[in-house]
Amino acid sequence: MRAAANRLVKCVNGSFRAAKYAPFTPSLLASATVAASSISCVQRGAITVSKVTECRACGSKTLTPVFEMNGPRIAGVINSRAQKTGYVLCDPSRHARACGLLQADSADASHAPGPSARHASNRENLRALATESLELLSGRDCSALDIGCNDGSLLSYYPRWVERFGVDPSEHVDEVGKWAWSAKAAFPSADLDKAFGEKKFDIISAASVFEHIDAPRAFLNAVKSRLTEDGVFALETLYAPTILSRNAIDVFQAGVCAVYSLSVLEWMIRAAGMKIVKGSLSPKEGGSIRLFITHEDNAEFDFDPWSERLAKLWDEENALAMRALQPFQSFERRAVEIQHYLSDMFAKIADRGETVHILGADAQTEALLAFMGPAAKSVIAVVDTHAARERDILGETRLPIISDTDSRAAEPDYVIAPARYKREMLERWRETIMLGAKMVFVTPTPHIVTSSNYNGEYGKTIAAGDAVGGTETLRSILAAAGGLRVIVENDAAKSA
Ligand SMILES: [Zn+2]
Repeated sequence: MRAAANRLVKCVNGSFRAAKYAPFTPSLLASATVAASSISCVQRGAITVSKVTECRACGSKTLTPVFEMNGPRIAGVINSRAQKTGYVLCDPSRHARACGLLQADSADASHAPGPSARHASNRENLRALATESLELLSGRDCSALDIGCNDGSLLSYYPRWVERFGVDPSEHVDEVGKWAWSAKAAFPSADLDKAFGEKKFDIISAASVFEHIDAPRAFLNAVKSRLTEDGVFALETLYAPTILSRNAIDVFQAGVCAVYSLSVLEWMIRAAGMKIVKGSLSPKEGGSIRLFITHEDNAEFDFDPWSERLAKLWDEENALAMRALQPFQSFERRAVEIQHYLSDMFAKIADRGETVHILGADAQTEALLAFMGPAAKSVIAVVDTHAARERDILGETRLPIISDTDSRAAEPDYVIAPARYKREMLERWRETIMLGAKMVFVTPTPHIVTSSNYNGEYGKTIAAGDAVGGTETLRSILAAAGGLRVIVENDAAKSA
């Protein structure tokens, strides 16, 4: 078996940025299997980063750089420059057994997410994940563990007779109510092993967690050991073909450890002694894949229509040639085009003396402002009602954080909104747009929604499957994003 111990560890003198999943928090270092050959420490500004030298999934050393992204400005870096994160492909063109995983070239690339409950679309998505998991177990008494439970949103959608457990290393876990057992801890960890003892779970879920994990195989092995014989593991993670075709640069700017394809996931899950029984695409985080997984010898969930749907997704993915370098190189070219377009657009807005607000006090916003360069000076406020109650300014950007109400009262000329919540943003800000505000979305290509094109743009979010359960096939997502430009850069795509 290749690379059974491809775990990574941060440099002793290094400094973690807050990570969604930092399996090697100091208290857990003692239990970590350190594979010293898989990392090397380099100095970047005043920050020490851990360079990844082996694929997180298969252990191959053939990692080919594919693109770099400016991340949020972080305290401690000289001149407070934006942090650059490099992404590499575990490259099958150089090593026949390389798995093709797209991943960050450093071990501290992940970011801290906001609370799950903040966006209605996130809540809807987590509710669907919980419901679908429970349906598989036909409503029998069961216990459920949510890994990366955040504020407990997903667990709250189980009925009371489900025994609920949540773990998360972030402070959001403090918001989980007494109705569930919860712990501020990373999974897997020695602390949790001690707390759980021999305990197993009928449902284990991990939504938007896997992409932030530096040791995915150890994670899967730990899930398998905690899953009852006929239990189900619900895994939802960023899906590379959707993320790339939608030009979701914010995902990489904000930082992730890896973005998976079905082929890499299937291989890893099989290597861990499990199998995928059901799968579909979901709109979460701008484009995710949702898989239901069980032990390899459990035939209880074998169902032909589900297998056929998986096979179809598999075929569509294979048609995209995601194991070659070209899709990633053309993604980088499109990102540069977007950057030039934005710089130009917002420089003109600043020249005209018009004002811009940006929605969401999160890592993606910080990264986008860094990405915009000097043109970001037209942005004068960050709009986030929840965050405004807790703090006044957004990190190193120093921009004031204000509430939705204050933003509407200030009547900015433009509002930049996160494309991954496009439908929800259009719904929430409809009246403001109708009153004359212009809403800017940066991806898949920069575009402006006004009162005159509102209906058409809102319709497109539905057609593109941005509603939960609305996403049918990869083909329809690609069509909505401008065709097969993930692999082929045709003239139509360039002028789109
Ligand atoms: Zn690999």
